[in-house]
Amino acid sequence: MNDLLPGEIEVWQFVETTARTLFGRFGYGEVRTPMVEDTALFVRSVGEETDIVGKEMYTFEDKGGRSLSLRPEGTAPAARAYIEHSVSNVEPVSRWFYMGPMFRYERMKTGRYRQFSQIGAEAYGAKEPAQDAELMDVVVQFLEALGLTDVTLNINSLGDDACRPAYHAKLVEYLNAHREELCADCQQRLERNPLRVLDCKNEKCQAVAGAGPNVLEFLCEPCRTHFTDLQRKLGALGIRYVVNHRLVRGLDYYTRTVFEFIASHPALGTASTVGGGGRYDKMMKGLGGPDVPAVGFAMGLDRLVLLLKEGGKTFTAQPDLFIVAADVDAACQDAALALTSRLRREGFYVEFDTRGGSLKSQMKRADKSGARFSLVLGGDELRSGQAKLKPMAGGDLIPVALGSVAQTLRQAATQPSSPSSLKTQE
Ligand code: ATP
Ligand code: MG
Repeated sequence: MNDLLPGEIEVWQFVETTARTLFGRFGYGEVRTPMVEDTALFVRSVGEETDIVGKEMYTFEDKGGRSLSLRPEGTAPAARAYIEHSVSNVEPVSRWFYMGPMFRYERMKTGRYRQFSQIGAEAYGAKEPAQDAELMDVVVQFLEALGLTDVTLNINSLGDDACRPAYHAKLVEYLNAHREELCADCQQRLERNPLRVLDCKNEKCQAVAGAGPNVLEFLCEPCRTHFTDLQRKLGALGIRYVVNHRLVRGLDYYTRTVFEFIASHPALGTASTVGGGGRYDKMMKGLGGPDVPAVGFAMGLDRLVLLLKEGGKTFTAQPDLFIVAADVDAACQDAALALTSRLRREGFYVEFDTRGGSLKSQMKRADKSGARFSLVLGGDELRSGQAKLKPMAGGDLIPVALGSVAQTLRQAATQPSSPSSLKTQE
């Protein structure tokens, strides 16, 4: 579990702000659910045989003797809230997104933590492939807005209750014939949840799975149509994708569409999946809710942040102005403090060293601050009401009246001056 300090948090804020803006454009409203849920919620939705529920949950008993778990993912809590608030009675289609920490007891390495952050979105009420395509478009545009281009979309269809049993039977038959080649975990999975074998990270298991039956050849007509329709729509959106018949995803609740976004950057090592999702048309009903189809995804923010840091951009905001109080006497200090305050009210990011100190030491701090301009406020300036803006990157001093520093700062900006919102610099 990580601490995020100023200096590192800015890249997170950039990702979060970008997500909020973009998801809003697609009509997704934010939902915030508690960090803790009844353990049974995850057992019933994610599934007992998954790694998440089987091995990774932080589960504890509260003082009332209930079994609770820190949420390991966001889809089940959102579904619980959707059912609890009878949202389907109010509107036929709902689009939600969530953002926040998830908890899994995993072995830690790069891109894999015990508390990590996810951004996810869920669309309830539409079973049509257009909804799947729209959701993938959210991710594509989100990655674009972050400037992450080296990411590949993998898609697959897992069929539904009509066609999956036949595939399942064939898969079990095939895997049983190759039992000896599978890792110990997969030999167990074979008994309890054979689809999970396709998800194993072990190379041998992947080779066995890769040569096995292809789920797409088993799809019934409605599932096949859904899948080809989805691909046509992705084409219409100009979204590139790869059909990967071995893609199953780590959760039990998916029907038909599943997808993953995989980054090719070496920094992520084996943690290269930045996000994924799929359709789960049966889950709401399975949880005792209405028969409402749904499709969703979750992205791991920690991995996106790792990729952005690799990109070499900086995300920390630089001050527009550093005000230096030239004399240590009280009048200069007070004037500098007041001017700083006024300019902040005008929307500028202004720094002023509250410790005072010599002119030389304050100039040094101005240099270090990365500010675009500095302004020295001394007795002369106070008397005349006139000062000079010094561009810290070099160039001529700019005369300025103390009463109109904001105006001059705005004009002096080479880029259109925005009040200090988050800026990124190459
Ligand atoms: P993996 O196969 O890498 O274990 P997963 O299938 O368990 O992933 P999901 O449950 O689909 O992952 O979660 C969606 C995304 O959340 C992942 O693609 C990943 O980016 C991120 N994620 C999952 N677990 C962790 C973790 N322990 N630390 C950081 N990010 C994670
Ligand atoms: Mg996992």
